Amino acid sequence: MELVDRLKILTAGARYDASCVSSGSRRKKAGGSMGICHSWTEDGRCVSLLKILQTNDCIYNCRYCVHRTDTDGPRTSLSAREIAELTVNFYRRNYIEGLFLSSAVRGSPAQAMETMLASVKILREEYKFPGYIHLKGIPGVDESLLKKAGYFADRMSVNIELPSAESLKKLAPQKKPADIFNPMHFLEKNRREEKGFLGAGQSTQLIIGASPESDREIISLASYLYGKFSLSRIFYSAYMPTGDPRYIPGVQNPPLLREHRLYQADWLFRFYHFSFDEIIPPGQNDLETELDPKSAWALRNFWFFPVEVNQASYRELLKIPGIGPVSARRIIKARKERTLDFSHLKKLGIIMKRACFFVTCGGRRIPGLPSDPDHIRPFLTMPVSRPRQPRLFAPPGGERF
Ligand code: SF4
Repeated sequence: MELVDRLKILTAGARYDASCVSSGSRRKKAGGSMGICHSWTEDGRCVSLLKILQTNDCIYNCRYCVHRTDTDGPRTSLSAREIAELTVNFYRRNYIEGLFLSSAVRGSPAQAMETMLASVKILREEYKFPGYIHLKGIPGVDESLLKKAGYFADRMSVNIELPSAESLKKLAPQKKPADIFNPMHFLEKNRREEKGFLGAGQSTQLIIGASPESDREIISLASYLYGKFSLSRIFYSAYMPTGDPRYIPGVQNPPLLREHRLYQADWLFRFYHFSFDEIIPPGQNDLETELDPKSAWALRNFWFFPVEVNQASYRELLKIPGIGPVSARRIIKARKERTLDFSHLKKLGIIMKRACFFVTCGGRRIPGLPSDPDHIRPFLTMPVSRPRQPRLFAPPGGERF
């Protein structure tokens, strides 16, 4: 098969891996280049990456995956040298700033990992490639391979994919939880202990909707993973039906709105100091779909409001719908110089159509607005028919809610 045809197949095949920031764009029909994704470097820069599989030829039969062994479709690979030369050529032409390299399991986990390692070794040692490299860790590989990978790569991701051991057993029976968690643990340990090892940390991906876990179970797992492995990111990927309903029946369309709400919940957890129980209270299994999780919290905890913006702490300000980390910091800075009124809040970038129900300025509320949760709710409800992809290009800490 010609190189260009293999390139098309392997860049298209890589779009199912969301562990690269802009992967949410895979469902856009236009406006993006196939095979290009974006990620954040250690110092917060957004970089464009060639996103590609080394091979789509797999010995495993994970039920949710288009590359599983019992699917039809062309199987192909690129050699280590081909990956390295493509990357360097694109890099020199300024098309990309780095590489996101993943792979199906061709031959064995060790063989797949060794081939990817050979690619990045050529890049780093022969071509002195200075760009960013995100490398997939294949579940079940030996620590010696992970160790080498961690020095060549800026970031690695070992994908958990299924949110429970039961679902892993049912839908990916050839993978064991230890095949995934042991490498994650090893990478984290080495990252902590050794300078220059995985400078941009590790991430992972969870598939949403292929298995029966609730949002509560998924968020609980996410909070555990952030604490245990200091993950840079968790990516939530709505299950894309593979066209074969034998294994995972009943999913017609990817649950994009659910994916979006989980990203919002994740954001609250990481940047807004919300606890797990605040995001999804005991007794509730799933996030509300019609309200973002921060607005849902505000309506459930209406006793907390109104918050006086001239006196509230940073964390209290973050609880207000329409105020994020950037605008909360702006409020705290601005109120040192003057007592803020509603016109100041607008100028500081607060989303007043959300915040107006929850704040006072100098003890005053905006007159005429509803003041009970049931009547406020319709003003905060987003349309559910056209879920908006999370704006993943916003810098960490940017305004979301
Ligand atoms: S090992 Fe990876 S590529 Fe292979 S079937 Fe499973 S998820 Fe797909």
